[in-house]
Amino acid sequence: MSEQITARVIILGSGPAGLSAAIYAARAGLNPIVLQGMQPGGQLTITTDVENYPGFRDVVQGPWLMEQMQAQAEHVGARMMWDTIVDVELSAPPFCLTGDSGVTYLCDALIIATGAQARWLGVDGEAALSGKGVSACATCDGFFYRGRPVCVIGGGNTAVEEALYLTNHSPDVTLIHRRDTLRAEKMLQDRLFAHPRIHVLWNKAVARFVGEGPGGALSGLDLIDTIRGQSSRHPTQGAFVAIGHKPATDLFVGKMPLDEDRYLQVRPGTSLTAIPGVFAAGDVADKVYRQAVTAAGMGCMAALDAERFLQASYG
Ligand SMILES: Cc1cc2nc3c(=O)[nH]c(=O)nc-3n(C[C@H](O)[C@H](O)[C@H](O)COP(=O)(O)OP(=O)(O)OC[C@H]3O[C@@H](n4cnc5c(N)ncnc54)[C@H](O)[C@@H]3O)c2cc1C
Repeated sequence: MSEQITARVIILGSGPAGLSAAIYAARAGLNPIVLQGMQPGGQLTITTDVENYPGFRDVVQGPWLMEQMQAQAEHVGARMMWDTIVDVELSAPPFCLTGDSGVTYLCDALIIATGAQARWLGVDGEAALSGKGVSACATCDGFFYRGRPVCVIGGGNTAVEEALYLTNHSPDVTLIHRRDTLRAEKMLQDRLFAHPRIHVLWNKAVARFVGEGPGGALSGLDLIDTIRGQSSRHPTQGAFVAIGHKPATDLFVGKMPLDEDRYLQVRPGTSLTAIPGVFAAGDVADKVYRQAVTAAGMGCMAALDAERFLQASYG
């Protein structure tokens, strides 16, 4: 028979949301288990400089910050397990999760903190230059490019919002879009077109991110005109890929309500999902802010909500 592990609270995900939930749940005496998934520490483990997480005057490194959060969670009693969940049964408590290790996990309260991954273009140079000029988050990295020209790639709401945000730092923002119209809401488009420091390169697709020398930083983009097929080089030191995010909710399709973009839905101002005893925190339930500090705050809310639920339901 396969191994079965039971806990009062299970936290699915070990990014800022999951680990903050773990700290609060452990300190409430709930002995939580954190299922870390394929990316222990979450998205911040793939970045370098983090300058906007409160508590640190100087820039800290993303992987270091997440190591500290995990150490804090373990120190107060959370148990980390390196398993990825491949199936969930949420129709009635105890909720049952199946790991790809074959272990099944049972819990009275479940906190889902599986995050959302940025979509990337998947072209040459993009992965190698990520963090060296290529980014998927203007709020996170725009400050590092202050005073310098930057570009944003995309044509939807995310791209327009990122371009507008970057005007806080950059004197010259180029939006690069592969079509001749934007998909973004009209109100956002109006603000974009009216902005004196933003201009748009229409009908251009990025074929390659170009770095300067081996291991060097981004120096430009190779573009292809999507109508005429001509190639050109656009020099830039900062490129923001803004083609949307994919919340990690495949597991929950048909098991709980998702919104039109497949994010988990929570009751506003809480972490409560439609299923009593199941809570959601962080980027998986947040398509607006998607920051480490907001994810951590939502993790705290989820642990407090779970603690109240367990008190009320089981004493
Ligand atoms: C390159 C980059 C740079 C960034 N820089 C900053 C910054 O400077 N400042 C800032 O505030 N934000 C930054 N962000 C955004 C920030 O990382 C996210 O907002 C934050 O990590 C979201 O936290 P989360 O806990 O909701 O999810 P995530 O960090 O995405 O963590 C999700 C967790 O869920 C786990 N998981 C997923 N599916 C499963 C499963 N089936 N079973 C078990 N576990 C699972 C994963 O393994 C992971 O541990 C950056 C993001 C990126 C990609």
